[in-house]
Amino acid sequence: MVRDMPSTKDSAASRPRRGEAARWQTAVDVLRLVRRQPGITRAAAAQTLRLSSSSATEVTTRLRQLHLVEETVAATTGRGRPTGALRANPDGPTVAVVNIRHEDFQIAVVDLDGTIVETHQGRHTGDDPAGLIARLRTDLREVRDDYGFRLRAVSIVVAGTVSSGRLVQASTLDWHDVDLGALDDGHQPRLPILMGNDATLAGVAEARRGSGRDSRTMLYLTIEVGVGGVLIDNGVPAAGATGAGGEFGHLPFGDRDLACPCGARGCWDLEVDGRAMARHRGDRPPHDPRSYAVEAMTRADGDPATTAAVRRCATAFGSGVAGLVNALDPDTVVLGGLAPQLRQLFPDAVAEGFDSGLMVFRRASPPPLLATSLGAQAAVLGAAEVAFDAILTATGLAEWAAQP
Ligand SMILES: [Zn+2]
Repeated sequence: MVRDMPSTKDSAASRPRRGEAARWQTAVDVLRLVRRQPGITRAAAAQTLRLSSSSATEVTTRLRQLHLVEETVAATTGRGRPTGALRANPDGPTVAVVNIRHEDFQIAVVDLDGTIVETHQGRHTGDDPAGLIARLRTDLREVRDDYGFRLRAVSIVVAGTVSSGRLVQASTLDWHDVDLGALDDGHQPRLPILMGNDATLAGVAEARRGSGRDSRTMLYLTIEVGVGGVLIDNGVPAAGATGAGGEFGHLPFGDRDLACPCGARGCWDLEVDGRAMARHRGDRPPHDPRSYAVEAMTRADGDPATTAAVRRCATAFGSGVAGLVNALDPDTVVLGGLAPQLRQLFPDAVAEGFDSGLMVFRRASPPPLLATSLGAQAAVLGAAEVAFDAILTATGLAEWAAQP
C-alpha cells in the first residue's frame, strides 16, 4: 500500500549516530503513544512504556521544547505529585494529503494531533492524468511555501489499486499504470511521498481513531463502485507484498457468467453495487454505478422492483462479509461508503446473508458490524496516519530537532 520514495533522509550524513538514535527512539515511543491516547498523563505514559519517572520527565520536556507535545497539569490523584496530561502539539510537523477521486481532488494539511487544518478542492475531468499531476505538483508547492519545514511528507490517496508506487488500475477513472511519484517536484529537501488505496487508508483511520479503535483485528469494508477494504491487525494494514491487497470485491462470490472489468469472472463487486441494482431491475449498466446506487436506495422503500433489487444486493453483501469473517477471523467489522445505508435499509437481508454464511462455530458470537464513525474523512486521516508513521522515527525526530 505504502511506498516511501527515495529521499535525502536516507543519506548517511543525515542519519543520527547509534547512541543518538537510541535516545530519540524513546521520544518516538512516547510521541506515538500520545498520538494514540491523547490526554494520557505523563505517569501513565511512563508506566505503559516502562520508563522511570525521571526518564519520562526528561523525554516529555524535550518533546515539549521541540513543539511536538503539549503538557497541561492534570488533576492529582491520591498521594502522587501532579502529573502532566500530554497531547500532540498542533504547531508541530504536518503532512499534506492529496486525495484523488473520481471527478475531483482534495489537498488537505493534517497536523500532528490528527486534525485536518486546511483543505482545498478542485475538479478534474479524469481523462488527463499527466495534466492533473502537473496541477497537483503546483498546488503542493504552494502548500510547501506556506508551511515551510513544518511540512514533512506527502501522502496520496487514490480510488484505485496501488502497487509498488504506481497506480496500476483505477476502473472508475479508467487510468492504468500512472506513476504517482511524479508528484515529487525535485525541490530540496525532498519529502517522502507515500501512497495508498482509499479503502485501505480509510481502514487504517477507522482502526486507530474511529469505530474500530477498541479492536485488535479489524476488517474494514466499503461499498462505492464495488467493494474495497482491508484487514487491520494492531493498527497495521495487511496490504500484501506490493500493497495491492484488500481487493475483496474481486473474490469470486458472484455469478461466473458475469465478466468483471478487472478481467476476472464472477466477482463479488458485481453483486452488491449500482451495477447489480441496475441488472436486477432490468436497466442498462449505469454510467456512474455509485450515483445509481444512491438513487436506487432512496427509492427502495416504495417501488417494488427497486426494493427487490436493492434487497438482493443487501443479502449478497451480508453473505460475502460472512465469507471474509470465516477466512480472516476479525474481532470487529467496520462498514464504510454506502454499506451502512444499505444495512440500515435492509438489516434483515444483510443479517440473513451474514448469519447463513457464517460457519456454525462462529454464529454464537459473531464480530459486530459497526458503521464508520469518520465517514468521508476517513481516507484522508488514514493517509495522514501512514505519513506520520513514516516520519515519526528516530531519524525523523533528529531531523526535526536540527531545524533552526
Ligand atoms: Zn473483478
